[in-house]
Amino acid sequence: MKLRVALTSTDLSSLEHKQVVVSSPLGLSIQVESEKRVKTLRLNGAQQLRVTPKGDELDVLITGSGGHFTASRVAVDMTKSGHSAFINSIKRARAKGQEHPEYRGYELDITPQNGHLRLVLVLDIELYLKGVLESEIPASYHIEALKAQAVAARTYAINPRISHEKDNADVCDSYLCCQYFAGHKAVGSAKHTQAIEATSSEILKYGTRAILALFSSNAGGYTSNYEDCFSDPKTNIFPPAPIPYLKAVPEKLNAPMFEPKASAHEIEKRLKDSWHGQKHATFDSWSPHYKWSVHMPAQSLEAHMHHELSMLAKEQETAPFVIPPEGGKFGHIQKFEVTERGISGVATELSIHTSHGQWQVKKELVIRSSFRNPEIKLARLKSAKIFFEHEHDHLGLLSAVTVRGLGWGHGVGLQQTGAQGMALLGKNYREILAHYFTNAQIHKIGS
Ligand SMILES: [Zn+2]
Repeated sequence: MKLRVALTSTDLSSLEHKQVVVSSPLGLSIQVESEKRVKTLRLNGAQQLRVTPKGDELDVLITGSGGHFTASRVAVDMTKSGHSAFINSIKRARAKGQEHPEYRGYELDITPQNGHLRLVLVLDIELYLKGVLESEIPASYHIEALKAQAVAARTYAINPRISHEKDNADVCDSYLCCQYFAGHKAVGSAKHTQAIEATSSEILKYGTRAILALFSSNAGGYTSNYEDCFSDPKTNIFPPAPIPYLKAVPEKLNAPMFEPKASAHEIEKRLKDSWHGQKHATFDSWSPHYKWSVHMPAQSLEAHMHHELSMLAKEQETAPFVIPPEGGKFGHIQKFEVTERGISGVATELSIHTSHGQWQVKKELVIRSSFRNPEIKLARLKSAKIFFEHEHDHLGLLSAVTVRGLGWGHGVGLQQTGAQGMALLGKNYREILAHYFTNAQIHKIGS
């Protein structure tokens, strides 16, 4: 199956490129299309293809006297075996040992888009998965965990949470939106390939439709309900309608399900017991990401949180989830209080008591992001399964806060570290997927 993957800019946040530069040590064939005709050109190993926007069209330059053209579309043909394309105009952290990320597939498609460029890689879904697994899960994991990840990632590509139809693509390459695809390193892992081939064409369906196969790293002992972590992808309403196969489950065999009607206070007590206790060993408790803590002096916390909340309140996507007090001021922080939680313990509503009133922050990723603090190199909290410990000075004012948390990521659907734990207990990938995606079935694509 052919897949169209929109490639994002270096910071993974945008599909708009200001310039696209392509090279290839073995050379490539390039089609330059304009209204009247299609020209086929050859790019040798020493040349670069440089494309920039020119009004509604493209300015196309091939260095080393290869020519200069105006075009409506450029297609880089990569079908000759071994002829990969290096994209010099973007950087990817995971392309170790390479200055520029390397891509294989059928074609790179460069088109103009509102004064910018759109860059789409067309490749077979199985080849795409090699890049995803390489980027998303260590090859040192058990083969059954890798197989579970392969099926989940293949399913996600077919049914991503956010549709990329308007971008003329099926999926994008960013973990901020879809799943991470950092290209094809010169040497791929044989074990990743084995996991992809052993599950060839297999996807998860619920009824007749491919499921939304969300995954994250570590659920901190109990996965979360979809509706406790995500807003509706079309309306941004939170909480969205529940999804029947994305249900909170314990990361333990034959463990009782949590009582669904527990109060936020009772759930918090359970979180604390899990954080401090050793007796509740779970599939994922082996991982260093299972539990963590961050200590922050009140002054630093106040300075950065004020800034972050103002930023989050300005952005269209996050604005509905940041509710300032009347007057809109952020004073000295007095305390943090999680006022609503999902059954797994994930905070769905956080109250920040300040000397100028109470700020409310909703939804796990917004809560995590509001703690961004460059001073301690914190981009966001690792999860929203959190509780707080407050320290006070001799005047009774807040002097520092420790945030203690369980897990890494949103905790909905497949958990990579949990899958590894299950595989080590002898579970196969079908049993692992059945654990995380309630009542979903494995089918071959197209069946
Ligand atoms: Zn995307």
